[in-house]
Amino acid sequence: MRTLVYGLGESGVAATRALIERGERVFVADAGDDERLCDTLAGLDVSGILGAGPEILEGTDRVVASPGVRPTDPVLQSAEALGIPILSEVGLGLELLGGNTQVAAVTGTNGKTTVVDMLHRMLGAAGVPHAVAGNSWRALTGCVEEARGAGLLVLEVSSFQLHYMQSHGFEVAALLNVRPDHLNWHSSFDEYVRDKLRIFEGQREEDLALVSAGDEAGHAVLEDLRAETLIVGEGDTALRDGRLLLRGAHLADVAELRFAGTHNYENALFAAGAAQRLGAGLEDIREALLGYETRPHRMQVVAEHAGVTYVDDSKATNPAAVAAALGGFDVPVVLILGGSEKDTDFSELLPALQACRAVVCQGEAGPRIASYLEGEGRQEVVHRASDLENAVERAGSLARAGDVVLLSPGCASFDQFSGYAERGDAFARFARQLPGGVLGR
Ligand code: ADP
Repeated sequence: MRTLVYGLGESGVAATRALIERGERVFVADAGDDERLCDTLAGLDVSGILGAGPEILEGTDRVVASPGVRPTDPVLQSAEALGIPILSEVGLGLELLGGNTQVAAVTGTNGKTTVVDMLHRMLGAAGVPHAVAGNSWRALTGCVEEARGAGLLVLEVSSFQLHYMQSHGFEVAALLNVRPDHLNWHSSFDEYVRDKLRIFEGQREEDLALVSAGDEAGHAVLEDLRAETLIVGEGDTALRDGRLLLRGAHLADVAELRFAGTHNYENALFAAGAAQRLGAGLEDIREALLGYETRPHRMQVVAEHAGVTYVDDSKATNPAAVAAALGGFDVPVVLILGGSEKDTDFSELLPALQACRAVVCQGEAGPRIASYLEGEGRQEVVHRASDLENAVERAGSLARAGDVVLLSPGCASFDQFSGYAERGDAFARFARQLPGGVLGR
């Protein structure tokens, strides 16, 4: 078996190493050709080609595709046409893991990292051994032995990773929500939904499937699921009168928690439902919830200045996440939107804009978003800025004491930054540099 690892990002490197360690025949390729890729290739003890095209498929038995490579890529298209199997790095990791390790998989447009993090803490509080990998965590192929040793893997999976994955039959599978995003990668919203739903493929009756009461895509397939289902936000697993209930058991009052937002309470119930199934007791789950604080760049207060609070939600890279953020404020918000262009439909945001004193549109996608909002009758609140630095300055001048300036861009960051974390850090820095002395947090 000769495997081509295609795409030399972090997961491609991990997949290559895992295959080499197992003595498999492997070679690597990337369509790009730059200094970083040259260094990466030089660091791998394997033959490889940069600037690769479909010709590299000759003699290839299967392709491991990195999540960054789109299905429209010429090499992947040719592989499909030639009937050469394509699998994702996570798919390879699951194959190497074998069938004796339990897997709890989490997917969704928004909230994956938060749910996985909460679940990790709940299992930690209960002393349940486990390993965490996938999407925004480490590559699964890099920690297969550790996961096997623990006997339980908590796996964050993106739609890209699900696209090229054989049905695995996860013991626990959670679909948090499906909202428009990544339509520059998937060929359509329907395809994106189909890929997300693959998380439930191969589940058996004794497994657990979690979906959200508020999510159309998950709700639509309830009848087709073979596993036991837990519907978060319905019946006795929901937020009721400020209390988080799991199957009727009281977990915590939201007033006791150190995180806020209806979406995060829902995330907490997903994590709790999964943790309970995997052996955590209610007391352990409660303890983890009471200590939980959201990770950086997700609704994080980073500065205060002249009575205005600056909140970094740089991880909000689609309109659904921005709407969730805006729902959490009862004071006027000056919202900073925009970043790199994913051609996303922003209509979902329109009702949530009621909360906004002003919307500053910046970056590559800024002009398109501004024109769209103006076309929808929001001319009075729309402002334009060339980049994030100018947007923060503009937002600061538009905000009044008591307001929040919120960076919740609804777009990826690659037009100006290397990632959402760098963008969030820059936002905090720009806010603290505003004239007049800003109190950093
Ligand atoms: P992911 O890993 O899926 O990108 P994160 O937990 O990192 O999710 O959160 C990404 C963004 O989405 C953040 O801005 C966060 O505030 C928002 N968010 C988190 N959970 C939800 C949810 N259940 N619904 C909508 N937005 C959410």
